[in-house]
Amino acid sequence: MVNAASDVLRQQTLPLMRSPYEMKIICIDITNKCDLACSNCTRLLENQDGLWEMTPENFRLAARSLADYPGIIAVIGGNPVMHRQFEEICRIFVEEIPRKEQRGLWTNNAFKHAALAKEVFGIFNLNPHGVERGIKSLESLKEGAWYHEGHSSHSPLLTAGRDLYDEAEMWARIAHCDVNQEWSASIVQNNGKLRAYFCEVAASFDLARGTDHGIEPVPGWWKRNITAFDDQVAHFCPGCGVPARLEGHMDCENTDTYTATNADIALKSRKKNRNVIELTPDEISRQISKQIDHKVTQYSTNLRGTSERRRLPRPRTIFERLKAMF
Ligand code: SF4
Repeated sequence: MVNAASDVLRQQTLPLMRSPYEMKIICIDITNKCDLACSNCTRLLENQDGLWEMTPENFRLAARSLADYPGIIAVIGGNPVMHRQFEEICRIFVEEIPRKEQRGLWTNNAFKHAALAKEVFGIFNLNPHGVERGIKSLESLKEGAWYHEGHSSHSPLLTAGRDLYDEAEMWARIAHCDVNQEWSASIVQNNGKLRAYFCEVAASFDLARGTDHGIEPVPGWWKRNITAFDDQVAHFCPGCGVPARLEGHMDCENTDTYTATNADIALKSRKKNRNVIELTPDEISRQISKQIDHKVTQYSTNLRGTSERRRLPRPRTIFERLKAMF
């Protein structure tokens, strides 16, 4: 619920936030299928109820809505190459976005599509999360790419700012949110409909809750000022954990941390054998006192040293995850 004080603080925060047209990258999420199940995934994949794939027709409309956007358009998921019509998606992307240097692919494993990806995409963000089969599949794509071979750590998304801070501190943190300042707006397919969001994480919350607070991605939607996304900011940011930058679990630890506001979506993932840890008030104070001084996502091959990295558990495969569900 939005009260008057929160309303004033939000209005003071909005001018400090970036609008989509100021972002260097805008994402198109084409599926929530993924062969990994990383802790604190920014897509909240383990918290969504079913699997979805963007239709090729919707992908064309999404790409077309960004026709004169000058930045990178990142095709992402889940793992986007797991889309069953990935070849068709690639063909449409080339037709709609002629400049190869604008066409981005964000993936952890290219599977059988490495050669096609090299032909179609001009920019890559490759993060195999320390998994050998992914590292091998990305070998031919990594030259000149953003490449993060080792494990990563994300701060929790489900530790809501409103459960951790007073209103003033919460909005001050949202004004400097790493995702808004450095990452992307996004277009997803939400319950069959194409939807745009000022923030990729906001889209994840909508998908996890089965709600629809997105806007129709009409051509040029991304040119709107952040103030035009006021409703989305008011709805999503206070419930989001990104600005808190709490210490997270390693990608391979299959563990998410949450606070009361997000219990509904955190607990859903237990059905998939996810470890979920609720922060008690005592634990909240302890976590706040030792919060991280780096960005919300830490990519590294030496987060915990090479020898310890080798002892980390292997992330579950998609088959193991499905087996755990039934
Ligand atoms: S939804 Fe979360 S990640 Fe996105 S801008 Fe708001 S606080 Fe930042």
